[in-house]
Amino acid sequence: MTTVFKFGGASIKDADAIRHLTPLIEAHENRPLVVVVSAMGKTTNKLEALLAAARDEGRRDDYRECLEALQAEHREAIESLFGTSRDSPAERVDTLFDELDAQHRKHRRDTYAKHYDQTVCYGELISTTIVAAWLNHSGIATDWHDARELVRTDACHQAANLDWAATAETVCGRLAQSERVVLTQGFIGGTAEGDSTTLGREGSDFSAAIFAHCLDAREVVIWKDVAGLYNADPRRFDNAVQLKRISYAEATELAWHGAKVIHPKTLGPLQEKSIPLMVRSFETPDAAPTVIDAERRFDADVASCTLRENQVWLEVRPRDFSFMDEPRQHDILGRLVEAGLHANLIDSSAMRFALCLDDKPERLKPMIESLEADYEVARRDELTLLTVRHPRPGMMDTLSEGREALAERRNATTAQRLFQSRECPETWHIPE
Ligand code: ADP
Ligand code: ASP
Ligand code: MG
Repeated sequence: MTTVFKFGGASIKDADAIRHLTPLIEAHENRPLVVVVSAMGKTTNKLEALLAAARDEGRRDDYRECLEALQAEHREAIESLFGTSRDSPAERVDTLFDELDAQHRKHRRDTYAKHYDQTVCYGELISTTIVAAWLNHSGIATDWHDARELVRTDACHQAANLDWAATAETVCGRLAQSERVVLTQGFIGGTAEGDSTTLGREGSDFSAAIFAHCLDAREVVIWKDVAGLYNADPRRFDNAVQLKRISYAEATELAWHGAKVIHPKTLGPLQEKSIPLMVRSFETPDAAPTVIDAERRFDADVASCTLRENQVWLEVRPRDFSFMDEPRQHDILGRLVEAGLHANLIDSSAMRFALCLDDKPERLKPMIESLEADYEVARRDELTLLTVRHPRPGMMDTLSEGREALAERRNATTAQRLFQSRECPETWHIPE
């Protein structure tokens, strides 16, 4: 039965990290083994910066500089890994950089989202070219596959929706019998017309789940720079603890509320086929992972905290003294959907509808302009949303001490409060 491994940016951030992959893959002898890889380190952020420069006529020099810096970083990793070996993918990677540059010229006047997908996908195309060459160079027989031909999606750029039937057919047809390691990209897909698409930031975890679902995999292993899934980001909470076992549903809740460690769409396709997900550390591969499966018994054992930063709070009011009734709410949410935005918290009252959103200027700005044509809109920036799953009595108040909550919401399992970021600590502590 198939196993799917997924390696994120941190696990292939440079030549040393890529070298480290070899023993992890070597240790797994069963085939098929599908290895899903994202872009190296922070490449996707850098490609987004490159895209911004490419779309601005006045920033041609910045564009060139960004492109050359990114190419230099990749060349450095290739040189360190391959030296003068004939196995070096240097030429293929240079060709991919030329293609990337050509795509920017071609799509500069397209919509932002389409231009994004035709260019940002190169992060993964380049990283997988390097990793595939490295595995073959290390004696692990590996085939490189273009995920844009395997993962069929619609043309909803930056948040493409899957055509499951077409994807399953292609993935099973091409990968199911492979005796060699299958290496492919996370995060990206393609339309029937041949355009590249992306599945949303951090979408490589979801890609791993797509391959696992289509191939009825035995398990998915997501290799991380942390020992597993914790009850809070261990970088931000000084007493976070690893969760040993939680359910697909609970993991989805945590991811949905902002636990950046797994993409929220990952769990659905695995749950449908009862495929367990292991979150493991690539630094300490023998340590016990977090196991995510159908077992719900341990979900409420500890309280879990997530933070969403760079939040914007919008308060929308009718211009006259009329109600914020269902037709108006429907209208506002419709504009949100059209803008491709997601509300992290919603609050409504008689003459007010308020939303907490991620600060994505290229989407937010046009939506606010459209709302302002019909409503009064007030905006607050630089906010942090804290969400606690299974809060213990008094926990939220202790976490809020010394800070005013600008908004709050609570139900049987989840409590949320919105704060000004400047009032929040760099390091948080989960109360007993
Ligand atoms: P990858 O590039 O491999 O997908 P990510 O950076 O997306 O890795 O995810 C790993 C990071 O997620 C960790 O370094 C950690 O700081 C952060 N993180 C946020 N919330 C959690 C959590 N609840 N448990 C573990 N890690 C978390
Ligand atoms: N490289 C993409 C990103 O940084 C996808 C991923 O890492 O999951 O968002
Ligand atoms: Mg990630």
